[in-house]
Amino acid sequence: MQVSLVARIDAILPQTQCTHCGYPDCHGYAEALADGRADIDQCPPGGDAGLVMLAQLLQRPIKPINPANGQHKPRVLALIDELHCIGCTLCIQACPVDAIVGAVKQMHTVIEAECTGCELCLPACPVDCIDLKPAVVVPTQSVQQQAEASRWRRRHQFHLFRVDRDKRERAERLAAKALAKKNDPQLAVKESYAKLDTALAPQAIIPSETVPAVDAKAVRIAEMMARAKRLREGPAP
Ligand code: SF4
Ligand code: SF4
Ligand code: SF4
Repeated sequence: MQVSLVARIDAILPQTQCTHCGYPDCHGYAEALADGRADIDQCPPGGDAGLVMLAQLLQRPIKPINPANGQHKPRVLALIDELHCIGCTLCIQACPVDAIVGAVKQMHTVIEAECTGCELCLPACPVDCIDLKPAVVVPTQSVQQQAEASRWRRRHQFHLFRVDRDKRERAERLAAKALAKKNDPQLAVKESYAKLDTALAPQAIIPSETVPAVDAKAVRIAEMMARAKRLREGPAP
């Protein structure tokens, strides 16, 4: 892998992290270009200016942006309709630069200065409450745009680190829980009781129109009670 060439290509790419090129991020496309696996016409956000710079760097002929990847268009920003946001957090998970803040069942909002306009949060929203608005136009390859792209690159790198760290910590928590359960059989029994309580709770209310289902529920309750008894008594000696 030609690392320095990858870095030089990556420095030309706009760091929108939109995946329109068919790669998971700008760095992935830079690697494919450096390896000769990709052509220079795959990045709509980079526009003609970006394409010309790639052609010069890689000594390849200039060609139009591949229309199958979308059109070059003015930058946009995501805007959340906070009144309709249900706080599902799916947009946070979709955002490649962690530009959305919010918590479970709380309204979410976009940090405008960090939004690359990649639009990845739009299809993620189950209630369609994210819209786009025009962003302030920054001249292509200007100092300001370079600074913005560097910031987005850093934010995306941190995003990848954070996602990986969260996954690792979750796996460690689950492993610790499994070990605790293994070392303490009583804990496993207590957890089974808790699950049983949760499972039985909704069945305590049986609406009159579901009377024919009572027998089936009674059988299920009996099964669960028998299972709980088996757990309480532990394995046969
Ligand atoms: S801006 Fe989008 S299309 Fe261009 S390289 Fe980055 S991820 Fe690919
Ligand atoms: S807020 Fe939406 S449009 Fe903006 S960077 Fe995040 S995912 Fe992309
Ligand atoms: S995906 Fe939509 S509803 Fe869910 S938190 Fe984001 S903006 Fe709110």
